[in-house]
Amino acid sequence: MPPARILLVVATLGGIALMVRSVWGEPIPLEYAVAALLAYIALATAGVLFPQLEMFGDVLWRGEADQGVVLTFDDGPHPEHTRRILNILEENNVRATFFLVGRKVKLFPEVVKEIAERGHGLGLHGYQHDRLFSWKTPKYVEEDIQRTQQAIEEACGQRPTLFRPPIGHVSTRTAAGAKKAGVTLVAWSVRGRDGLKNADPDKVLERLSAGLGPGAILLLHDAAERDDFTPVSIDVLPRLLEEIRSQQLSVVPLESFLEEVKT
Ligand SMILES: [Zn+2]
Repeated sequence: MPPARILLVVATLGGIALMVRSVWGEPIPLEYAVAALLAYIALATAGVLFPQLEMFGDVLWRGEADQGVVLTFDDGPHPEHTRRILNILEENNVRATFFLVGRKVKLFPEVVKEIAERGHGLGLHGYQHDRLFSWKTPKYVEEDIQRTQQAIEEACGQRPTLFRPPIGHVSTRTAAGAKKAGVTLVAWSVRGRDGLKNADPDKVLERLSAGLGPGAILLLHDAAERDDFTPVSIDVLPRLLEEIRSQQLSVVPLESFLEEVKT
C-alpha cells in the first residue's frame, strides 16, 4: 500500500480515537482539536493535489526503471493544433496517448478518428473539463466518464479505459467514481506546464528534460483548455524528442506501463 494511504488510515483512526475520548472520556483542549483537524485537512488536500501520492486509490503515474518514456497530451482534440502534434509525432515515428475532453470530441470527431488511425492511444479527460471535478460525487464522476467514453466510441469505435481527471486532482470521490466506471486513473511523473497562456517554451523544455528518465510519463497539451491560444508544445515537441534521443531513451506506448499499477 502506498505510504500516503497508510498515513491517511492512521490519521483517520487517530481522529476517531480523539473524538471518542472527547465524548466519553476527558475532552481534549480545543486548540489541540483544531490543530488536529487542520492537519487532517492539509493531509487530505495534499492527497487530492498530488495524485502521485496515490492516497485515495491506485494511480498510474510512472513505469519501471527498465522502461522507456511515455508522451501524453491533454485537453484536445483541436482541428489544427492536434494535427500539428500528430505530424511531429509521425515525422519522429513515435506514439503518444491523447486524453480527450468529451465536449471537444463531439465538436471534432474526425480528429479523434485521425488520432486513432495514426496509431496513438486514447484516454478520457472529463466531458466538460470541469475544474471542480474533484468535488463531484462518485455518481457524477462515473456518468461523466461514461459520457466521454460514449462520445469517443461514436467518433472512432474505441472505448478508452484510461482516465486522467481534469486538472489532475484525485479526491476520494474521484477515485470511487473511476472505480465504479472500471477505468484506470492516470497521472504523470513530470509536466511542462505548457497548458498555460504565455508559457515560455525554453522553460517548458527545461522542466520536461529535467524529469526525463526510464519510466517517465510526460504531460503536455495538444490544445489550450479553452482553445484560446496555440499551445507551446508544438514548438517544444521537436526539441523534446531530440533530447529524449540524446539521452538514449525510447518512447513507448502508455499501455506498456499498465501492469505496473496493480502492485
Ligand atoms: Zn486538462
